[in-house]
Amino acid sequence: MTSDVHVDHLVIGAGFGGLGAAIKLDEMGERDFLVIEKDGGIGGTWRANSYPGAACDVPSQLYSFSFAPNPDWSASFSPQPEIEAYLNRVAEESGTLDRFRFGTAVVDAAWEEDQQRWRVSLSDGSTVVAKTVIGAAGGLSEPRLPEIEGIDTFAGEIFHSARWNHDVDLTGKRIAVIGTGASAIQIVPQVQKLAAHLDVYQRTAPWVIPRNEHKYTGVEKFAFRHVPLVQKLSRTAIYWGRETYVPAFTRMPKLAFPAKQLALLNIRRGIADPELRAKVTPDYEIGCKRILISNTYYPALASDNVDVVTERIARVTENSIVTADGTERPIDVLIVATGFHTTEQPIAEHVRGKGGQTLAKAWAEQGQVAYKGTTVHGFPNFFQVVGPNTGLGHSSMVFIIESQLAYITDALRTMRSHGHATVEPRADVQAAWNADLQRRMQRTVWNTGGCASWYLDDQGRNTTLWPRSTFVFRQLLSRFDVAAYDVTPSSPSADGADDRKKVSA
Ligand code: NAP
Repeated sequence: MTSDVHVDHLVIGAGFGGLGAAIKLDEMGERDFLVIEKDGGIGGTWRANSYPGAACDVPSQLYSFSFAPNPDWSASFSPQPEIEAYLNRVAEESGTLDRFRFGTAVVDAAWEEDQQRWRVSLSDGSTVVAKTVIGAAGGLSEPRLPEIEGIDTFAGEIFHSARWNHDVDLTGKRIAVIGTGASAIQIVPQVQKLAAHLDVYQRTAPWVIPRNEHKYTGVEKFAFRHVPLVQKLSRTAIYWGRETYVPAFTRMPKLAFPAKQLALLNIRRGIADPELRAKVTPDYEIGCKRILISNTYYPALASDNVDVVTERIARVTENSIVTADGTERPIDVLIVATGFHTTEQPIAEHVRGKGGQTLAKAWAEQGQVAYKGTTVHGFPNFFQVVGPNTGLGHSSMVFIIESQLAYITDALRTMRSHGHATVEPRADVQAAWNADLQRRMQRTVWNTGGCASWYLDDQGRNTTLWPRSTFVFRQLLSRFDVAAYDVTPSSPSADGADDRKKVSA
């Protein structure tokens, strides 16, 4: 007799991806699943990133599930608390929360070839046995801390943007923010208002265009709620508007000329000092790194209590940051907005496929690869949401997530109807898929724009972004193409022992 919990499907993560997976599994009648989430609740990145000013830079009409529209968004770009509340409401209404286990991390997920199933060890010491694993741990979940000499010795308050310490009162403090990415440009205007003095450490200047925020009126919200077509049309218009940006990113960077002019205007509008303007003007093509949106970032940098420091950081002391030119700037609080581990996904260390090989090992030489960003050769019955080359520079990841969920649920339907115990993408098909991706990548601004970014791995390969339109992605994943897979039939022994302990009826 064993106390292992047996389920058909184990989902890792309870952000947009994991919640969406739970809802879609439930809808198709695959109700025997468990969602494991290391954090204390629903939301993923939208729960973890609670820093002041956190908001989505993709319009929320599009940055939400197509099957769960929200007529109550307060503005075109929703603040983080609204998105977190939205996800909680959707979870509540879905009736799936009884199958979520919070505050528990996946320590190890190992494929048992003879049993044709996954054995998953959890941080609470328990084990779950599952026929399939859906990994939805997120691309931006593991903070990347800077390796700066002496940073461990800093005696003041220090925290990462995704681990904001709300107990620290920033009023009247001397503060440093390291980083000038999407998170930092939202944090800086908020912190500037409170700080006695703020140093912003900029390694690479970002391109920042104006934020065309629109607060929804009562009439608009009423229309969204009572005439669903209005909201649908709004979403569709935003979607296609965003798709028109694709050629500028993927083939013809010169098409981004108007955006570049807009960004330069944003600098001129926000900053009067020519020296500071020069400091914050990027020296690479717009779009090479994520294009940011803000009306308040540049005015904040131009404030009397702010210095933009572009000298390399040499070291951190107990109470200061020292730059390479020898200047020491004393601080009370250090905010690290240095991004996430994106090209080496932490979950990859914990997933072991055929022969016990980890995903991390499988990806060590070739970089992270998958088939259709979702399945991986050597890892049967493993599906990844937001896997390799599924990221976007221009539109909503929720659209990508829903496309992947359609593919995964069709795979499960196919397995069920054909009696397949396992599906695993063929090596040749996966290689051809990735060769095509990398060929397309050569022309993109991400690879040619003259910047270093988290899109690229340490070999310079772009293993994070999708280099085509999102509707092509959706089309390619609209049906599970079983011909691209090695399959095995169900065997009686693989269906679980008699002592199965189910988590749901
Ligand atoms: P990020 O874009 O990776 O930016 C990290 C920043 O830290 C960069 O400016 C980087 O400089 C700097 N940095 C890293 N290591 C450093 C070091 N050792 N010394 C000095 N500077 C260092 O991270 P993020 O701002 O957290 O954003 C990550 C992603 O999250 C975004 O691209 C976006 O996809 C998402 N995000 C979205 C929203 C939204 O509104 N939807 C908001 C926040 C974040 P370099 O540029 O020189 O590397």
